[in-house]
Amino acid sequence: MNSLRNQLKYGIFSLTILLASTAFGQSWYAETLYDQYAQSFQIDKIIYQDKSDLQDLIIFENKDFGRVFALDGIIQLTERDEYVYHEMLAHTPIIAHGNVKKVLVIGGGDGGVLREVLKHKSIDRVVLVEIDGDVVDFSKKYLPNISKGAFEDPRVEIVIADGCQYIKEAQEFFDVIICDSTDPIGPGEVLFTSEFYNDCHTRLNPAGIFVNQNGVPFMQADELSMTYKNRKDHFKDVGFYLGVIPTYIGGFMAFGWASDESSYHNITEEQINNRLEQIKGPLKYYNAKIHKASFALPEFMLDELKKTESL
Ligand code: SAM
Repeated sequence: MNSLRNQLKYGIFSLTILLASTAFGQSWYAETLYDQYAQSFQIDKIIYQDKSDLQDLIIFENKDFGRVFALDGIIQLTERDEYVYHEMLAHTPIIAHGNVKKVLVIGGGDGGVLREVLKHKSIDRVVLVEIDGDVVDFSKKYLPNISKGAFEDPRVEIVIADGCQYIKEAQEFFDVIICDSTDPIGPGEVLFTSEFYNDCHTRLNPAGIFVNQNGVPFMQADELSMTYKNRKDHFKDVGFYLGVIPTYIGGFMAFGWASDESSYHNITEEQINNRLEQIKGPLKYYNAKIHKASFALPEFMLDELKKTESL
């Protein structure tokens, strides 16, 4: 039954590409994340397209955005703006913490977050747990500009498994856990639950920090309230910070933040700049002012969180 359903899904998926192509007289890729709102990219060349046991995978070239990678019809990254997301997800918690040795990345099979985490010389071990081994394989081959050799770094251990299962059975502790997953649809759904956050809390060293990809609040406000509530069950300090990634359509993206240590928010620009001096390699988005400003949330988000608190 499952394979018939998958064949059907894949058929609809391919039809979408075909229809989008003929409709514009060129090849276009229409994202299918939202029912009534979408972005399309002109496909200059398909680099890779396949179905793993879990997801529909595609990478194509686009003149303006470079290589574009999508899973199940949802844009995962483009070469043009991926650095915003990967720098904010990696450096904000690691710089705030100030003495990170061990990091766990859940998801992140494209290697972008891994590349940024490894820029910190203090880090001696990174475990990356990706559910779909095909994503790692084809990212190494077709997205070398994203991982930039990160997968081969001797400090890295790659585990192909469900992150939710892995964290339940893990025996070691981490200073930072970064959940760089797909949206809460399909295999990613379990990574937005109270149970998962509880297990992450258990696996963090004291004053450890959890961050995640938490959707675009203007379009996915329910993800905000759901994760806020689920994380408040287990962490003392729960919040969000923001970043602007143009190809995650609908406005700025929220990154989830959770820790038992609230003093991280008092970090000064001077402290951030001193810690930035430890980083090897250039940054294109993250800096001390961006770090501080990213935690400023607009009223509509604060209202959403207040509503959650009153539940
Ligand atoms: N930057 C992207 C975004 O904001 O949506 C995420 C990129 S990364 C490619 C997302 C990865 O999460 C995918 O490779 C997917 O296979 C992985 N993933 C989804 N569910 C997972 C799970 N339960 N355990 C581990 N990895 C998972």
